[in-house]
Amino acid sequence: MRFDVVSIFPQYFDVLDLSLVGKARKRGLLSIKIHDLRDYASDPHKTVDDTPYGGGPGMVMRPDIWGKALDDIMGPESPGSGMKVLAVPTPSGEPLSQRTIEGLAHSSDQIIFACGRYEGIDERVTEHYRQRSDVWVLEYSMGDYIVNGGEVAALAVIEAVGRLVEGVVGNTESVKQESFSEEGLLESPVYTKPATWRGINVPEVLTKGNHKAIERWRRDRALERTLKQRPDLIRRINGHDLDIHDRELLASLGVLVSPTYANFSMRLAQPDDAQALATLAARLFPMACPKDLDRQSIQRHIDEEFSLDKFTHMLAQPDTYRIMLGYVSISGSTKELIAYSLVENISLDSKPSHPEVAKVVPPGTAELSKLYVDKAWQGSGVAGVLMQSSFDDIHGLSPEAPAVVVSTHERNKRADIFYRRHGFRKVGKRTYNVGGQNMSDNVYLAALRGHDIN
Ligand code: SAM
Repeated sequence: MRFDVVSIFPQYFDVLDLSLVGKARKRGLLSIKIHDLRDYASDPHKTVDDTPYGGGPGMVMRPDIWGKALDDIMGPESPGSGMKVLAVPTPSGEPLSQRTIEGLAHSSDQIIFACGRYEGIDERVTEHYRQRSDVWVLEYSMGDYIVNGGEVAALAVIEAVGRLVEGVVGNTESVKQESFSEEGLLESPVYTKPATWRGINVPEVLTKGNHKAIERWRRDRALERTLKQRPDLIRRINGHDLDIHDRELLASLGVLVSPTYANFSMRLAQPDDAQALATLAARLFPMACPKDLDRQSIQRHIDEEFSLDKFTHMLAQPDTYRIMLGYVSISGSTKELIAYSLVENISLDSKPSHPEVAKVVPPGTAELSKLYVDKAWQGSGVAGVLMQSSFDDIHGLSPEAPAVVVSTHERNKRADIFYRRHGFRKVGKRTYNVGGQNMSDNVYLAALRGHDIN
């Protein structure tokens, strides 16, 4: 990769003899030539600027001097000889990003920097070089602030592009895993020895050598940090690039990324939520039924189990029935109820109503009897966080409750994967009736926080 830098302060670039870039220059991986713009000025004072047309403060850099310098470095237009980049730092350019840096590193092998000073460079310079077929003019900004000249901006790009050139950075993995790399996330926090410093410990997981757990921890912290510091980056993430753990983590932080970006919130249902719940439950239940179940049976079950009366009855007994609601809001729209979970029998002397279930669980086991998410939001992470929030609620209400049991249709593979991933294990079967038809469920059990049920 070849860099040419034109500036009125060539000494500014002495730092490019240092560190990784300096080493890469010595090894011939990077070629960097610094040109003094004043060498192209013809008057005795080597003047490169003049007063602005139209008046106003400061001075503007002359196009004729820049033209001489840039023509000399670029040579005549030669279509088909490969693209040169004319990189012009300016506060009015496009904000610099890792994507632009990658584009520069991969699409050109010569970058020429035009470092402005004073009020900047006469506009006709970029206009002229844009007309050349062998030049890509990139006006870029380092951010919404002003420095005195383009030199620091050129240094930043030389370092950022240079480290993507093969061989410049020894550990290629470290380049891939950094903030803004392919994944578009900030990097997780990093730690080194000593393990305790000024009373602050390194996170325990990093000291235990469980690589899978470490990877997960790093990923979680990266997601958390990105959401907190740069929510704009999370908004740009493609939901398909996140696994279900990632989505659950973001959902627990109030954000969904799949199928679309949305805010997510949860709360315990109150008595006046009965109608909304009955409507939602009647809508979601058919979607969760096996395909071979007939319509009448489904409707009969809805009428019996999901009526307004039924929910009104349950919501009047918050010590026995706990219903957690999940809402989404897209681009600030009003919240829409898209999910609910229902946990029953939250007391040590109560038993799950189904005898086959009661038989295989410890006394005082609560029952997750409903966990429904609107089809459009399935896979978004909502189910996992809603369930976790229900379990936290039970724990707060009844810390002695040892476990929670859940039953799902025996052919429901998704549910099997989901519950196992959340620490449930299969403990038995139960049969039951939907609108006159017999069905068979798997029964799963998981310990609640602070309990060991093995
Ligand atoms: N009058 C200009 C304006 O308001 O946009 C600012 C000129 S600045 C004092 C002089 C030079 O510093 C610019 O021509 C540019 O090369 C460089 N510069 C200043 N801030 C910059 C930024 N945020 N990004 C890139 N280059 C910058």
